[in-house]
Amino acid sequence: MDILRVEKLTKRFGTGKNEFVAVDNVSFSVKEGEVVGFLGPNGAGKTTTIQMLLGITTPTSGTIHYFDKDFFKDPQYCLSRINFTSAFNTLQGRVTVWENLVVFAHLYHVENPLPKIKKLVERFEMNDLIHKRYWDLSTGQRTRANFIKALLNDPKIILMDEPTASLDPDIADKTLTFIEELRHEHKITILYTSHNMAEVTRICDRVIFLDKGKIVAQDTPLGLTKRIQVAQLRLTFNENKGTVETYLKNERLTYRFDGEHVVYITTEETSLPKIIFGLSKLGIWMTDIEVKKPTLEHVFLQIARGEPYVFS
Ligand code: ADP
Ligand code: MG
Repeated sequence: MDILRVEKLTKRFGTGKNEFVAVDNVSFSVKEGEVVGFLGPNGAGKTTTIQMLLGITTPTSGTIHYFDKDFFKDPQYCLSRINFTSAFNTLQGRVTVWENLVVFAHLYHVENPLPKIKKLVERFEMNDLIHKRYWDLSTGQRTRANFIKALLNDPKIILMDEPTASLDPDIADKTLTFIEELRHEHKITILYTSHNMAEVTRICDRVIFLDKGKIVAQDTPLGLTKRIQVAQLRLTFNENKGTVETYLKNERLTYRFDGEHVVYITTEETSLPKIIFGLSKLGIWMTDIEVKKPTLEHVFLQIARGEPYVFS
């Protein structure tokens, strides 16, 4: 069963000449236990999509189903089984963490909430912080408090809108580790928005690229990387630059020399062994071989800009 199924979701803002399509005919689904990355540059429509999925923004058209139930017909059923975190404050600043959690537990109609809150507070190592006001917490501590809130109703799926966006790198790293643990412990399903490719490669099973409101690609992180078949080979050789150059020219390869002993060759990944073999048969002694393959960031930039990727 799909935990979440979105069909032809569209959101237009403004009217007439000022009309603007923030989310354009977007369809995708998320299966139980999957961590799906929703990736795209600023303004791509990630937050607008998440807000429609939370019922905060009304779509112009399209349908949303959670657990095969129509979100618009059965919002309470769906909302009680999902939750949400973001980098921005989701709790009340003026009251303590504990009070916040108790209030949310009641809003969610959690039965016997106190033992549950205590257990989560321990899990997140927040024991010493629960009587502090939310405002007085560091950003990393707030993130943890937001996560506890998001787990109170035992959600089937958590929507995360750039949960690491305003965090220091070490705290962002801890948050990601935490999300990884969450999925192993709770088998939770996650829709994770980010503009950070490294993060998405690390924690997501599948990535949906959004650009200007449209889905431009959908694949595993590895699959997306493989779409660009180009690789760069950096060869260091002892002598005979002339022989190397003649060979590369005859093979019609794209290359650039750096001094007398180094050459960069840009080619299909599958022809790398042939080149190395060919040069070695000509008696070229290679002292160093380095292969650079595109990262997800390269793939993403290529898709977003509609340009072939060029190694710098
Ligand atoms: P992302 O989260 O991917 O950065 P958003 O979903 O926040 O992108 O925004 C998508 C586009 O929709 C942006 O161009 C943004 O300016 C526009 N947008 C968002 N909310 C509104 C609104 N309430 N009125 C008009 N335009 C909006
Ligand atoms: Mg956003």
